[in-house]
Amino acid sequence: MRVRLIAAITSALALSLAACGADVRAPAAATTSTSTPAVEVNAAPGTVDAKPLATPMSATAALDGKYIVTLDPGHGGDESGAAAYGVVEKDSNVDFALRVERYLQQSGVEVVVTRRDTNYPPGGGGTGRDGSRASLAERVRLANAANSDVFVSIHSNGSPDSSARGIEVYWESRREFADENKRLARTVQDRLIDTTNRAGYGIRDRGIIDSSCWRGAAGRCVGLFVLSPGGQTTLGGSAQAKVPSLMPGVLVELLFISNTDDVALLKDDRARDTIAQGLAWGILDFLKSR
Ligand SMILES: [Zn+2]
Repeated sequence: MRVRLIAAITSALALSLAACGADVRAPAAATTSTSTPAVEVNAAPGTVDAKPLATPMSATAALDGKYIVTLDPGHGGDESGAAAYGVVEKDSNVDFALRVERYLQQSGVEVVVTRRDTNYPPGGGGTGRDGSRASLAERVRLANAANSDVFVSIHSNGSPDSSARGIEVYWESRREFADENKRLARTVQDRLIDTTNRAGYGIRDRGIIDSSCWRGAAGRCVGLFVLSPGGQTTLGGSAQAKVPSLMPGVLVELLFISNTDDVALLKDDRARDTIAQGLAWGILDFLKSR
């Protein structure tokens, strides 16, 4: 059974890696090669950041009606993302997004959520790789159509290494607003780690990561579709222009579904709410500082 479980996890992770939003401009056949992007960690794993942070919620009344945030729960439809120990990423992502939405709305921020149930976003999807690709394009389209100030794609991680755990945030350096992407990533990661550590969860800080070389393929860098620049994508076997996002954005990986300590937190309602608070507060910090 143990072998079967490991196989199931590995299989789920392969699905997750294929679906977390790779930019399709590199050849699909080369997806087995990997690269390790530079990681910037702001604290040793497990340590508490003693830096005092401003009270988030009560100080945000001035945001009323000023900002629009698009929250994008990753995966959906026939794409489950990572799945292990009874946690299915695509459904966990929606739950996180709806919690974050609530906290942002309480602070007067308008929120767009790209999907609210287990399916792909209503305007994009289908089956197989084309369905996944269409859904990624639709997520970006929704954020652009809403004239969003910030785009946040919400995921949880998975790894064949069951000891891998913690939270990390991806940002994209190849955009004209790269500095804002990086600042958003830093702000969100700081809040996530600070908020969860103060609550006693001891979540590992994996830092912020430039997603421009999220994966190497045939000597080329493959980024995350929802964050990367415009270019070409393929749908139904034919090349199409890819429309990029028009606003700063990040992709957060909230814990590892392949790690038993992290899964215990993912299954804990209070822990999930604390993580959602941390993410919302990080977004609010960023908006307030603009
Ligand atoms: Zn994912």
